[in-house]
Amino acid sequence: MYLRIDRLQMELPAAKEADPNAAAAVQELLGGRFGEMSTLMNYTYQSFNFRGRDKLRPYYDLIANIATEELGHVELVAATINQLLSGSTKPGMPDEAPMASAVNVRNTHHFIVTGQASLAGNSMGGHWNGDYIFSSGNLILDLLHNFFLENGARLHKIRVYEMTSNPVARAMVGYLLVRGGVHATAYAKALETLTGVNMTKLLPIPKIENSKFPEARKFEEMGIHRKLYRFSPDDYKEIARIWHGPSPSGDGELEVVDGPPEGGPVPDLPPVPETFAPALAPEELAEIAEKLRKLA
Ligand code: MN
Ligand code: MN
Repeated sequence: MYLRIDRLQMELPAAKEADPNAAAAVQELLGGRFGEMSTLMNYTYQSFNFRGRDKLRPYYDLIANIATEELGHVELVAATINQLLSGSTKPGMPDEAPMASAVNVRNTHHFIVTGQASLAGNSMGGHWNGDYIFSSGNLILDLLHNFFLENGARLHKIRVYEMTSNPVARAMVGYLLVRGGVHATAYAKALETLTGVNMTKLLPIPKIENSKFPEARKFEEMGIHRKLYRFSPDDYKEIARIWHGPSPSGDGELEVVDGPPEGGPVPDLPPVPETFAPALAPEELAEIAEKLRKLA
């Protein structure tokens, strides 16, 4: 089962202005084949379907625990897209075409299908797909796939970073480059314990260090690239059997943190009256919510 904490895994900066085409590009990191929905569902199904859990506990704990972190990454990328879409249009009466600017943006679904918010799809508007899940039941093959998936995700993050200099998008990508680096290293170390093959020698893929990205360097200076968070009050403790020893970056020891990162608040999304989200007159809904609070 799951507990939920109403915070993002990092402090996301507030957007200064709308950037709907950057939001469209960032969708790839949410619902693309190598996006956060894919890492989430791959590791989640592999943990559901894991055979020999009691004998192979460290590997089960690793996959299940990283899956939980990925759910928070889905939440973080969605929050980034929502920040980039906020303020894209101005309120006005329908006959004034207040959303006229939206006909020339990359993803019109953001404006027609949602109230200017994230979609479970990629940068071309295609839907996330259950076929993106690889859960073969063979532990080495699944771990090898996860290593590949993290590095494919890294390549896409870097390309999106190169497409937009938007500071909100880049802050999020910087954080996720560091966390993805932890996951790629964790799967590499798991494969090393099972096969003896020195997988960490392949890293980083592509061959550019996270420290080359100022937004990632900031998190590395905080040591976040050496930390694996344990996303459970009492479980998944055997991740420490894989996540220990000197950091491959050569700057300290790997460390399991007993709990989630402190993170930051989930930004509140203002009403968008011209799109009827959450209503034409949001103050009416606020009044009803206030009445419910008093009755409780
Ligand atoms: Mn992730
Ligand atoms: Mn990951």
